[in-house]
Amino acid sequence: MLLDGKIAIVTGGTRGIGFATVKTFLNQGAKVALFGSRKETVDIALEKLKEENKDYPVIGLYPNLMNPQEVKEAFKKVVDTFGRLDILVNNAGISQRDKIFDYNVEDFEKIMNLNVNAVFICSKEAAHIMKEQGGGVILNTSSMVSIYGQPSGSGYPTSKFAVNGMTKSLARELGKDNIRVNAVAPGVTKTDMVASLPDAVIQPIIAGIPLKRVGEPEDVANAFVFLASDMASYITGVVLSVDGAARS
Ligand code: NAD
Repeated sequence: MLLDGKIAIVTGGTRGIGFATVKTFLNQGAKVALFGSRKETVDIALEKLKEENKDYPVIGLYPNLMNPQEVKEAFKKVVDTFGRLDILVNNAGISQRDKIFDYNVEDFEKIMNLNVNAVFICSKEAAHIMKEQGGGVILNTSSMVSIYGQPSGSGYPTSKFAVNGMTKSLARELGKDNIRVNAVAPGVTKTDMVASLPDAVIQPIIAGIPLKRVGEPEDVANAFVFLASDMASYITGVVLSVDGAARS
């Protein structure tokens, strides 16, 4: 298995791309700490995993990702439980589609706080641990809109452009510590939000995608597995598109 014996943290692991990543990592031999925003949703996710395999080595935590002290304590709990930390997947993220004239500063800050500041806080904590133990992998969740922008909700693409910048910069800074830093940029992916869109909305989107389908959460999870594995041991600082060659 590609991640045999590796220890991973996946933020936003309770549903969507994060949950698929947790499951795929477990099936590839990793031990996983799933982070969510609330105890209730973390417990539901853990229950779902237990139904599939009661022996999955997985724990659930719900630190406030924007609070460095809570993040520090949660990461310590992971290391105390599993012994080390090999992989961090910064996946938790939110979006918002208001036009600029309706977009208030509080909403802009909310997006930047989770999509950018929390990625910085978690990456910093992971880097401390990984440097000390001799290496590791940090993976960020960017988006197709980090390449093309989008015609509304400018805070979201702005945050993902920042994620790409952080990915490339930390890759250069942390390479000497044997820490690889990469990002995956999903296109439209069938998480709850997309799955609930009516056919009239989803069909034109599919028509514009050369592979003629939206992505499955597992498509993104598989890219994370590859980048986290030793098969990608000379790959760092890349933003890997997983979008069926969509261009919008
Ligand atoms: P989702 O809404 O299904 O899941 C988001 C996850 O983030 C959940 O586990 C949630 O608990 C967590 N989260 C939300 N707010 C949080 C907070 N304040 N603190 C901690 N955790 C919080 O989303 P998804 O579609 O699976 O998206 C996951 C990532 O993929 C995001 O970074 C998103 O920007 C990115 N992405 C998604 C798509 C898509 O089409 N679904 C496309 C490109 C990029």
